[in-house]
Amino acid sequence: PLNTTDLIEEHRICVCVRARPLNKKELTTKDLDVITVPSKDVVMVHEPKQKVDLTRYLENQTFRFDYAFDDSTTNEMVYRFTARPLVETIFERGMATCFAYGQTGSGKTHTMGGDFSGKNQDCSKGIYALAAREVFVMLGKPNYKKLDLQVFATFFEIYSGKVFDLLNRKAKLRVLEDGKQQVQVVGLQEKEVKCTEDVLRLIEVGNSCRTSGQTSANAHSSRSHAVFQIILRRRGKMHGKFSLIDLAGNERGADTSSADRQTRLEGAEINKSLLALKECIRALGRNKPHTPFRASKLTQVLRDSFIGENSRTCMIATISPGMASCENTLNTLRYANRTK
Ligand code: ADP
Ligand code: MG
Repeated sequence: PLNTTDLIEEHRICVCVRARPLNKKELTTKDLDVITVPSKDVVMVHEPKQKVDLTRYLENQTFRFDYAFDDSTTNEMVYRFTARPLVETIFERGMATCFAYGQTGSGKTHTMGGDFSGKNQDCSKGIYALAAREVFVMLGKPNYKKLDLQVFATFFEIYSGKVFDLLNRKAKLRVLEDGKQQVQVVGLQEKEVKCTEDVLRLIEVGNSCRTSGQTSANAHSSRSHAVFQIILRRRGKMHGKFSLIDLAGNERGADTSSADRQTRLEGAEINKSLLALKECIRALGRNKPHTPFRASKLTQVLRDSFIGENSRTCMIATISPGMASCENTLNTLRYANRTK
């Protein structure tokens, strides 16, 4: 198991994987666990067996990441190794992003937004809330206190290449790029927040706005990217920004052959944005001068986070443990592997 001394310091890109436990449905269908995390940075996909024989390590599909979190890892622990080191970045005038990537049902929203299945919303244990809490702690430190920073939050959704404000009744917003390549989401509500509780309230508003009018919360969220941002301002000017993104589900095989034109188009749009995202993260990691951010709305609105000296990012690839999800799991692991 991980402990805090395992924390990797100072690099621009952190890629990790998180496996969730088998859920009720998987248990009732007698699906079997095919995931093992044999060490703090390795994940294996193998034949279902009660016990994995580690001497057969190489015959299995093995992937190495900065961190691998097994199914007993808490959100708090995942947070500590992923988003938490990025909070300081925004205080040091940097840009930070943290993505949850994976198939629908693998635990992206559980990780980022906290649980909000049904009536018992509890977003306080998600990474959005944990990061916000840290921001207010940092704000009180002497070094930063004297900067007189103000904190703002935005919450929006990108659905089929269009942007909707989750803090303003899903108002549809335009994205503009000016001559200096600055990208602006016109009219996006930026709400000032004074404490963690203010942030929790906004997350709840956004979460319920995200799913309102939808027959199935999961069907909708699987097809949209949710972007939650914490913005620091000093005398009105942006000082730093942390974008935390609950990405659309990456399983798209069925969509591309779908008879429904709308479904096909949405699927293609999601594929496009996830490919563009991978390329932008790779460019950031390799200090390449050219970031192909225009390839999708998602990467376009995150443009200023992919460029700049002091930009850091973290990818949390979430995977389902069941054999039935094996193909999607391998796709997720390969994708995450290529962002490194
Ligand atoms: P996604 O957002 O990727 O579609 P969810 O976060 O909604 O997936 O997770 C699907 C279900 O699995 C939810 O009921 C959630 O509470 C549960 N779940 C996800 N990750 C974990 C975990 N690490 N531990 C326990 N339950 C989890
Ligand atoms: Mg979700």
